[in-house]
Amino acid sequence: MKTVMGTCALCHQRCHLRQSHIFPESFYKNVYSEEMHKFVTLSTNPTQPIGLEQRGIREHLLCERCDGKVIGKYDDYIARWLYEEPVTRPDRYRYSLMFKGVNYALMRLFQLSLLWRFHIAKGHGFRSVDLGTHSETIRNMLLTGDAGTAAYFPCILMHPKDISPALTGGIACPVSIGTDQWPVCRAIAVGIVWMWIMRPDTSSNPLSEFAVSTDNQMHIVLGTDNISEGIKNEFIVLDRAKDMQPNATKLSKWGFGQ
Ligand SMILES: [Zn+2]
Repeated sequence: MKTVMGTCALCHQRCHLRQSHIFPESFYKNVYSEEMHKFVTLSTNPTQPIGLEQRGIREHLLCERCDGKVIGKYDDYIARWLYEEPVTRPDRYRYSLMFKGVNYALMRLFQLSLLWRFHIAKGHGFRSVDLGTHSETIRNMLLTGDAGTAAYFPCILMHPKDISPALTGGIACPVSIGTDQWPVCRAIAVGIVWMWIMRPDTSSNPLSEFAVSTDNQMHIVLGTDNISEGIKNEFIVLDRAKDMQPNATKLSKWGFGQ
């Protein structure tokens, strides 16, 4: 593995830096092209051709221990939750599906770690994410395994209506949406829209109730037509990749997107 000398973004030790994944490797499960062992990169810029890259979006960010043992632990949890844990049918609500038995600490720390990785990544796809002074707070939470309160930068998961097969296999880098009062960072991966409310206390925002809670419940909000329309516009180029593997996460097991 290619390493360079530098300072680990998580523990701040000087060391050999690994090429760390920004999105966890498991998020590329359905994006890699089987024959090429590469994944398809797409752009919302229609003039940019579809490219093939190996091993996802990575940057020299973390030491071996932080990459494998700290962030790796959070990435392992989300991979298990998405692909391996037995599918128990969620409770169906009018606007969401509610999951029980979600590990609050690991789900929260995964979601915070992803947001923090967007913040520290230097690639042009991540420029919209700036955690300011909270990056240091979150860095310490990730290092010490402190998941904090549910209302601190909560992540709301949404499943858009009429999701296309191409979209379920695609990854969209984070963009800023929302309002001045409630700025939101939104990324798309594994057929899920991941939306972080970019505030340290969101307890007055009713949406925060959909995020993972200390009683180990988490909702996936079911998208409305309007939200889906906006996302589809952004993903227009993804329709060029219709031959991508069907998504194998829980979402497809419930028959979404068919
Ligand atoms: Zn480190």
